[in-house]
Amino acid sequence: MIHEILPVGILQCNCSILGDEQSKEALVVDPGDNIPQILGILSRHGLRVTAIVITHAHIDHIGGAEKLKQATGAPVYMNAADLPLRDRLDVQAAWLGVEQPEAAQIDVQLRDGDRLRVGGTELDVLHTPGHTQGSVCLLVPAEGKLIAGDTLFRESIGRTDLPGGDYGQILKSIHHKLLVLPDETLVIPGHGPNTTIGHERQANLFLR
Ligand SMILES: [Zn+2]
Repeated sequence: MIHEILPVGILQCNCSILGDEQSKEALVVDPGDNIPQILGILSRHGLRVTAIVITHAHIDHIGGAEKLKQATGAPVYMNAADLPLRDRLDVQAAWLGVEQPEAAQIDVQLRDGDRLRVGGTELDVLHTPGHTQGSVCLLVPAEGKLIAGDTLFRESIGRTDLPGGDYGQILKSIHHKLLVLPDETLVIPGHGPNTTIGHERQANLFLR
C-alpha cells in the first residue's frame, strides 16, 4: 500500500495519504492545509480519492477538507461529537491567527467499530475521546499501523485544556483502545515523529 505522510499548515499536522496500488483508490486523513501539495502527491501516484477522513475537528486537521472535497468530489468522514468544533472554525482561526477556511459538511459519521476500505485494505475506526469528544484513531491491521490523530504522540499525549478536552477520558481511551494493540504497532501521530505502541508503553510518562 502507498502511504505518504506530509506535515501541513503552520502547526505541521501530519496528513496521511493511503493509496491502493491495484484499484488506485485513496483515502486522505486530516488534510488540514496544503491542498495543492496533497493533490500533487495523488496525481503523481495516479490515485483517486474515495474518502476524506478527519480524526478530529481542530482547524489544523480539518482546515483543508472542504477544498479537497471540492477538488476530488470525495465524501468527508468524521465523528459527530466534533460537530460543535467544526461549527466554530471562526474561533479556532482566531486562536491561530489564520484565515477562516470554509467548513466541510460531514457526509458520513464515523462510529467506533466502523470499518473503512481502501482497495483491499481495511481500516478500523476506534473512537478515542479525550483530546476532543469526537477524536478517532484509524487502525490498519494488515499493516500494523495506527493513525492516532492528536490522541497519542511520541512520549506525549494530546492536550486536554481546549473545549471538549478531558484528561481522565484521554487516558482511559489510550489505555483501553490503544495500549491493547501489539507492541510493534507503528503509531503515526497527528504531529511530530512516529513511534510504536511498545515504546509508548515503556517510555511515555503520561501513561504510568
Ligand atoms: Zn487537535
